[in-house]
Amino acid sequence: MPGRNHLFVPGPTNIPERIRRAMDVPLEDHRAGDFPDFAKPLFEDIKKIFQTSAGQVFIFNSSGTGGWEAAITNTLSPGDGVLQSRFGQFSHLWAELCRKHAMEVTLVEAPWGEAVPYERYAEILKADTAHKIKAVLVTHNETATGVTSDIPRVRKILDDLKHPALLMIDGVSAIGCIDFRMDEWGVDIAVSGSQKGLMLPTGLGLVGVSQKALEWRKTAKCHRAYFDFDDQLRMNADGWFPYTPAMTLIRGLRESINMLLEEGLPNVYARHARYAEAVRKGVAAWGLELCARDPASYSNTVSAIVVPMNKNANDVVKNAYARYNLSLGGGLGDVAGKVFRIGHMGDLNEIMVLSALAGTEMALRDSGIDVAPGSGVGAASEYLRTTLKPA
Ligand SMILES: *Cc1c(COP(=O)(O)O)cnc(C)c1O
Repeated sequence: MPGRNHLFVPGPTNIPERIRRAMDVPLEDHRAGDFPDFAKPLFEDIKKIFQTSAGQVFIFNSSGTGGWEAAITNTLSPGDGVLQSRFGQFSHLWAELCRKHAMEVTLVEAPWGEAVPYERYAEILKADTAHKIKAVLVTHNETATGVTSDIPRVRKILDDLKHPALLMIDGVSAIGCIDFRMDEWGVDIAVSGSQKGLMLPTGLGLVGVSQKALEWRKTAKCHRAYFDFDDQLRMNADGWFPYTPAMTLIRGLRESINMLLEEGLPNVYARHARYAEAVRKGVAAWGLELCARDPASYSNTVSAIVVPMNKNANDVVKNAYARYNLSLGGGLGDVAGKVFRIGHMGDLNEIMVLSALAGTEMALRDSGIDVAPGSGVGAASEYLRTTLKPA
């Protein structure tokens, strides 16, 4: 097909030209004498994206899932209690990973489309007077349902109860797009990956770790080898990686951090908020509903859109791709066939957002979902036009 594929899955995301050029370099010697001149500032600057100065951010060759594993195995022991809620495919998978590492998972089922069940978390933690629960997990932005949870609210629950469990956050589809403050929010572990808000190819797992969580590694008995924080700690201190880093991705990461800091994190967050609102205006104009129930938890990086009962959301995804070269996200797990997803994270501008809505609108009609032609694009474009900051 001539022209570009329009990539609007909620990860991987579009790679900006600047990052592509930064990665188009010969491979380099990661043991060269001047390598730390490059790596040391990188280790410092990635912390700014996590908004931590007290913690450390480790960069692994892996996807986000490897980050989950690093978080668990470096801090916990088999049999430790873990509190997680299941309200989408990603929260589900992190809980499964904990089970595979022999954790005692207290899994709170919550409706898909809702945020972390704060009250249930509070009750369970309150009842846990023996402090058997060692880690409280929260999927900050549930990519399967387009729901963002309130991390400070979970922190407050722990603080009010003086519960010592580690607060672990899956920030894979949030960090670099949605406000995330590791230090201020008292987050002990924050996991991210390269292919979402960081606008890079898949291949890096990033793990932010507080000093408290670092201490816990000394007593954590889980087996760990490749993902051992100790190797990273020791080598990163002098500007090295313990194993061969994915050098091209690391060069891309340098450029990604530069771009985010040049735009300014508050502006990056505001841009995502505005585009997300434009998408929601479009969805409302179509007469469709989001999977996310509470406007307070609407995600600024992904919208999961519910199709009418007698329709199949997979048809929308298929038609969009086959007919218009537009990649949308399908429904995952419990909401497969019921929702499709528009990813709106990373390197986007107004017209790109509108192009996704235009293609989706056509694919909806092709799938027998009778939305008025131009309605979504009309609502979104007018919102974008009238909320543009004067130059
Ligand atoms: C994409 C994603 C992951 C990680 O998935 P990988 O495919 O391993 O990178 C984890 N959590 C959330 C919320 C995600 O969106």
